[in-house]
Amino acid sequence: MIGTAIQRSSATDVIDHLMSAAFRSQQAALTDLAQHTGLLWRCFCTQINKLHLQACERCEKPRRWTEDDTPENYGPLLEDLREALAEWFDDRPKLRRPAAIGFRVTTEWDDGPAWATWDTTAYFTDSPNGQEYPEDFERSSVAHALAELDDFAQPQTHETLRVVVPPPFATGPAAATAEQPTRA
Ligand SMILES: [Zn+2]
Repeated sequence: MIGTAIQRSSATDVIDHLMSAAFRSQQAALTDLAQHTGLLWRCFCTQINKLHLQACERCEKPRRWTEDDTPENYGPLLEDLREALAEWFDDRPKLRRPAAIGFRVTTEWDDGPAWATWDTTAYFTDSPNGQEYPEDFERSSVAHALAELDDFAQPQTHETLRVVVPPPFATGPAAATAEQPTRA
């Protein structure tokens, strides 16, 4: 097998089972839906890969956007933000689930620079560039988690924050041990 083998997720098993039950026409629709919802990942070479692969099965390039990029070591506060993002996208299955979300800093508030809930960037595994994410996270648990980061360390105006969005079913206490990508 090409790529770093990671413990298979239950999501991968479900996809495999559905794919083996499906007719060819259904397989195309399933594959499309699975990559849209983050149950498979699409390489920029267009190959659709299973979640446990950290490199593309066809071109062998590493999967993009698998690392956080943060100005501080936020510890558990970052995991709270990640879980909030996972919930956000779990609740919006019609939107293509990104691999990561990027935040910028706003100076619009009186109490100084803060992470903005708007003008965020969505990163997908099949593109080297992010694209504008249209929705505002205001008043959501994502906004709450960002405010906690502000309290921990006020961001500088030039700083950015990029957080990996886990695939569906990958967060929560039951998933914490099963879905962590431990390198073989
Ligand atoms: Zn590829």
